[in-house]
Amino acid sequence: MTAVARLLRATALLCACFAVGAQAQTPEPDGAGVLPGALPRQWQVSGPSCAGAATFEVQRYNDDFYILRESGCANYEKPFLFLLFGADKVLLLDTGAGKTDVVEVVGRLIDGWLGRHGRDSIELIVAHTHAHGDHTSGDDGFRRRARTRVLDTTPAAVADFFGFRRWPDDTVTYDLGGRALDVIAIPGHEPSSIAVYDRQTGVLLTGDTLYPGRLYVRDAPAFVLSIARLVEFTRGKVVAHVLGNHIEQRRTPYLDYAVGTVHQPDEHALELGRGQLLELDGALKEMNGSLRRMALRDFTIWPK
Ligand SMILES: [Zn+2]
Ligand SMILES: [Zn+2]
Repeated sequence: MTAVARLLRATALLCACFAVGAQAQTPEPDGAGVLPGALPRQWQVSGPSCAGAATFEVQRYNDDFYILRESGCANYEKPFLFLLFGADKVLLLDTGAGKTDVVEVVGRLIDGWLGRHGRDSIELIVAHTHAHGDHTSGDDGFRRRARTRVLDTTPAAVADFFGFRRWPDDTVTYDLGGRALDVIAIPGHEPSSIAVYDRQTGVLLTGDTLYPGRLYVRDAPAFVLSIARLVEFTRGKVVAHVLGNHIEQRRTPYLDYAVGTVHQPDEHALELGRGQLLELDGALKEMNGSLRRMALRDFTIWPK
């Protein structure tokens, strides 16, 4: 190959790489059309006194998207729940820890939305990021609610409801009515774990698989594959926020609050981004099949 030919070939390769890389960028400056939403600068921290504390703090991300956080005074796990409205259905992801008034709190949010939209009722689908008790304890109350379907939490039931054919390898779409959600199976923390990507807001919900805290890994091979699938799924997509189910991390990098902490006055923000997903994927791949506990800036990999 002549020097000129080599130069041309190198230029062509560079252009090809740039073209592939460019697909991951969004056209500026419209944010690729994702609908905006608001997250609090700081969640209301539970305590130091629990007198008069509400069971849930409700954050209106936008009119069709609500985030509920259970108070540490109700349960130290302080899990997050997510309520997403479409034209035909409203999806509740998770029902919280312990016995609470979650049915009433969610009911009031749905009634308020129906009132603003001049509607009488809407079907409520209660699904779960995964089957652990701190995310499913409110299920029974919803089973007695009208126009409500509560999904079972086995992988088979979850796969069947959302229409997976090759769990966990395929990705499926679930439509709430003018609002498409992508559902990705991500076993590893728990066998029925899913991630949900809301195309409308670009928010990726990741349950206990990725959040600012201790990422407990029960099935290491499955977890590694799930994170790799999430990286692939998000390639070239707008990821406004990665929202998981807990905050255990402090604002000070690498430090967390001990298990059981109620009052977390200096806790990390809930929201992460695709960068942290890539960081997690990279750390897992470096461990090359034998996972060990590793603290990173915003979370800790914690094989069980
Ligand atoms: Zn869990
Ligand atoms: Zn949890």
